[in-house]
Amino acid sequence: MTLGNHQEAFMQDVANILAYLHDNGYTVRGGDLQRSKEQQKIYFNQGKSKTLKSNHLLKCAVDLHIFRNGRLLQDKHDLQAIGDYWEALNNLNRWGGNFKTFLDVPHFERNIQPYFL
Ligand SMILES: [Zn+2]
Repeated sequence: MTLGNHQEAFMQDVANILAYLHDNGYTVRGGDLQRSKEQQKIYFNQGKSKTLKSNHLLKCAVDLHIFRNGRLLQDKHDLQAIGDYWEALNNLNRWGGNFKTFLDVPHFERNIQPYFL
């Protein structure tokens, strides 16, 4: 698969999760999708990211701020079913709420970084 093929498959999964969220009574505000190397370095130095090899650099990660009844959901347990849905869409998909070293609940990615960075 080319990088472009991965980016297209990722966006199809983003469409799927947005439909899933809206169908289930959530509202969503978008955050970062594409990120420059310079911006990644700033986040890394600020401790907001733990890697310089983010899937955001490849346009294969998006931060989704998910709300229920006007309240931003930040607790992993409130979002676990959504993360599970995301990871079931494709075996390359990872949800930041399941990261071992750094909890990042708004983060939804297709993990192609080992192949392209
Ligand atoms: Zn992210």
